[in-house]
Amino acid sequence: MLPDVVVIGGGIVGCSCAYYLAREGVRVCLVEKGNLASGTSRAGQSHIVLWEEPDINLQLEKASRLLYEALAEELPFDIEYRRTGSLALVENAGDWEPFERTVHSLQARGLDCQLLTSTDLCRLEPNLAPDLAGGAYFPEDAQVNPILTTLALAQAAKNMGAEIRPFTEVTGIELSAERKVTAVDTTTGRIPTAIVVNAAGVWSAAIGTMVGLEIPVIPRRGHIIVTEPVPDNLINCKIILAAGYMQTLGATSGVAMSANIQQTHSGNLLLGSSRDFGGFDRTVRPEVIRAQLARNLRFLPALANIHVIRTYAGLRPYSPDLVPIISEGDGVKGFYIATGHEGAGITMAPITGKLISEMITSKAPTVPLEPLSLRRFSHRQEEDRLG
Ligand SMILES: Cc1cc2nc3c(=O)[nH]c(=O)nc-3n(C[C@H](O)[C@H](O)[C@H](O)COP(=O)(O)OP(=O)(O)OC[C@H]3O[C@@H](n4cnc5c(N)ncnc54)[C@H](O)[C@@H]3O)c2cc1C
Repeated sequence: MLPDVVVIGGGIVGCSCAYYLAREGVRVCLVEKGNLASGTSRAGQSHIVLWEEPDINLQLEKASRLLYEALAEELPFDIEYRRTGSLALVENAGDWEPFERTVHSLQARGLDCQLLTSTDLCRLEPNLAPDLAGGAYFPEDAQVNPILTTLALAQAAKNMGAEIRPFTEVTGIELSAERKVTAVDTTTGRIPTAIVVNAAGVWSAAIGTMVGLEIPVIPRRGHIIVTEPVPDNLINCKIILAAGYMQTLGATSGVAMSANIQQTHSGNLLLGSSRDFGGFDRTVRPEVIRAQLARNLRFLPALANIHVIRTYAGLRPYSPDLVPIISEGDGVKGFYIATGHEGAGITMAPITGKLISEMITSKAPTVPLEPLSLRRFSHRQEEDRLG
C-alpha cells in the first residue's frame, strides 16, 4: 500500500510526527538513513524545559509537557518520564537582579516558578557550593529518556500501521511541473507519495535543497560528560543548571559554556553543556571537556570524588532565531518541515508531531503556526533589504 506521507528522519521529532500522523489514521512511511535515534536524539540530555524565551517557545514547551504526561501512559514501553522540576542557580550576587527580573517576567506569563535564597538552596541541596547567590525552582519541568522516547514513538506508530524503514537514505525528492511532491527517492527504492515531512534535524537544510528551498538550520555542537552512577541523595532535584545557561543560547562565536547537571534513572550524571559552531564535526575537544568539568565542579564540588566514564558530542539543529521551523515549504506543495529545535528538541518533539499532523489533516493548530513558519526568514531578509 502506498503511504500518504513519507517522514524523513528517525530522530525524536520524525518519530513523533509518524506517531501523531498514524493516530489520525494517516498511512505513514518513516525513512531513516541510519538506525533510529542515531542522530542528535541519542546525544542530548533529558530536560523537558518550560522556561525558554521567546513566548512562542514557552507555548510549545507547555503544550509539549502536557502531551508527555499522556505519552508516558500511551506508549508501549517506559520512557522514564518523571516530573522532577528543575533548579536554576545564580553564581554571583551581581547576577541576581537580572535573574530576578527574568523570573518575575516568567511568573507574569503564568509560569509556576519560585525564587530561592542561598539559605533555601543550602537546605534543599546540601551538596551544592555554599557561596551561591540563590536561584529558582521550576516545578513544571520534567525529565525523559530521549532514546527510549524515540524508539517508543516509532514502535507505537508501527503498531498503528506505520512502516518504519531504517538504513534508508533519501537521495532526492521528485516534483511535478506544478511543484507538487510526487515521490521520494531512497537507497532502498522510490516511494511515490504526495506529502513529505522533512524532520532530518541538522541535515534538514540538505533535504530542503532537494526541492529548491533554503532552510537556515546549521549544526551547533554540544559536549556531554557521563559519570558513574552516584547515590540518589547527591542531588535531590534531578535537573540543576546554572542560570547563565540561558545566555549560552544567544552566543554566536567561541565556545559558550554553562553548568548543567542531570541525573538519569540509572543514577549516572550527564554533565553539560557547551555550544560552538564547528560544522558537522562531532569530535570531542579535550579542552572543552576540561572547562566543562570545571564549571560543573564550581556548582557541585562533590563531583571531585566521582569518576567520569565517557564523553561525547552531539549537534543541535540551530535556527537563527532559536525558534523551531514547523511549517509548510513555501511554493512546494506537499512539503512540510519540522526542524531547528536547537537545545529543546526533546522537550518540543511531541507538540511538533502534533502540529504537523494537524497541518496535514487540516485541523486547527494547538499553537499558532505563523511564528514557526519558514516564511519568517524571507520576510526578515526582505525587511532588511528595504531598510
Ligand atoms: C549536548 C546536547 C544536549 C541536549 N539536551 C537537551 C535537553 O536536555 N532537552 C531538550 O529538549 N533537548 C536537548 N537537546 C536537543 C535535542 O537533542 C535535539 O533538538 C533533538 O534531538 C533533535 O531531534 P531531531 O529528530 O530533529 O534530529 P535527529 O535526532 O538528528 O534526527 C534526524 C534524523 O534524520 C536522519 N537523516 C538525515 N538525513 C537523512 C536522509 N537523507 N535520509 C534519511 N534520513 C536522514 C538522521 O540520520 C537523523 O537520525 C540537546 C542536544 C545536545 C547536542
